[in-house]
Amino acid sequence: MVATLGPEALPAPPPEQFAELIGQPRHLHPLLRDQRTIAGIGRSWVDEILWESQLSPFRKGSELEEAEVERLRLACDLVLGAALEHYEEVVGDALPDKAPMPLKVHARHGEPCPRCGTTLEAVFFAEHTTTYCPAEQTGGRVLKDRRLSRLLK
Ligand SMILES: [Zn+2]
Repeated sequence: MVATLGPEALPAPPPEQFAELIGQPRHLHPLLRDQRTIAGIGRSWVDEILWESQLSPFRKGSELEEAEVERLRLACDLVLGAALEHYEEVVGDALPDKAPMPLKVHARHGEPCPRCGTTLEAVFFAEHTTTYCPAEQTGGRVLKDRRLSRLLK
């Protein structure tokens, strides 16, 4: 397994390498979660990273503009860096299995977006939930479920 892992997400790979990794015709949420693409991003953090970079979880990696790829790359650094700092401060070296996570949007659907105040929405999959800000990430569209999201491709 280890041999197929992508490069570490923190620090984020340099722009050219990152663009190459992300330039796949797959939705950003599963793409970023795929440890073979980039290693170390858990599903909760994907929501945070996409929210930070103001990108829809249903955009495809290969459809992103250069500036969006860079925004995504910087968001990886920012979000994961802040998470690491938080853990160091709060729990020190003794990281418990289930440490509280400093999440701003993940699993907070129904609450106001911490940046713009719009109600956060979520798409529910069999095994996980994707939370996003419709105003900033999907052009105001609320994606009810997977079937609807397919229509929006
Ligand atoms: Zn917002």
